[in-house]
Amino acid sequence: MIVDKIESYLRGEYTPTPEQFALADAMSKERGARELAMFNGFFSGGYDHSKDDDRPTISGSSPFWCVKRLQYGVLRAEKLPVAPRTLWAWYIGRCVESMVQRLVVLTYEDVRWPRLTDGELVEKECSLDTPAGPIKGHVDLVVGVNDKEIPVEVKSSATYGWNKTKREKVVDDMFGHRTQCQFYANAMEAPGAIYISVKKETGHYLELHLDTDPRFAEGIRKVVDEVTTATDMGVTLDRPTWANEMKSPSEFPGMEQVGSVRCSYCSWVNRCHAGVERRTNKRGTPVWLRPKE
Ligand code: SF4
Repeated sequence: MIVDKIESYLRGEYTPTPEQFALADAMSKERGARELAMFNGFFSGGYDHSKDDDRPTISGSSPFWCVKRLQYGVLRAEKLPVAPRTLWAWYIGRCVESMVQRLVVLTYEDVRWPRLTDGELVEKECSLDTPAGPIKGHVDLVVGVNDKEIPVEVKSSATYGWNKTKREKVVDDMFGHRTQCQFYANAMEAPGAIYISVKKETGHYLELHLDTDPRFAEGIRKVVDEVTTATDMGVTLDRPTWANEMKSPSEFPGMEQVGSVRCSYCSWVNRCHAGVERRTNKRGTPVWLRPKE
């Protein structure tokens, strides 16, 4: 288990090799610079979505987050500016994930990617062909297990989400985290993937091993094909039924709240749910509300 090695290092029982230190240092410089740019970009005038225009509209997890969301992405529909509170949560999460990736590099003896080539950090890229073109992604880490290359995805979550993952293993996948693992495993033609979940508040780990499911690659191709074909024909997709649930929050009397957490973090929630406005609840979570009819 990767996390056992991290724990052993944290107990002072393991000393990384100079090569492991060199790779972790390179990751600190490269990824640390990216995180700093992200932070500065976020908090000097907000996150600029125009930078997304060069990025692929479809990522490994997006087809399974929501098909309507996928269609907004294919159409490059204008995105909602992300709330500073949400940006802050993303930034913290990203920093935590980055630190854990470096801990893996410092403690696991067979890290294949990223690697240092002539002093430069080189990341592992992979892609999956679909009828709408290849979906590309960068794998956080690739490790050797029994001489096979296995992708590793590191994600951080708050206690609620972490406990849910611990309880339900691969069942709950609200934001497509483990779907992303299937994407990498299929794209790399690896026998499986490793998912490490870190609890942001305490730094506790959870390590799940997934077998590659080839039905994922078929499923992703089918969804992408259906959405792009519908979009080409000018068909506007309906919201999935799970997205129609509205709640009655006691904190905001007279208002109804978009029920789905996926929708609450979606860049098109205000287009998708007419008349909603963003508020922040007592827990600091963004919620979308409109007056009850
Ligand atoms: S708001 Fe919800 S239903 Fe609409 S696109 Fe986003 S995730 Fe899908």
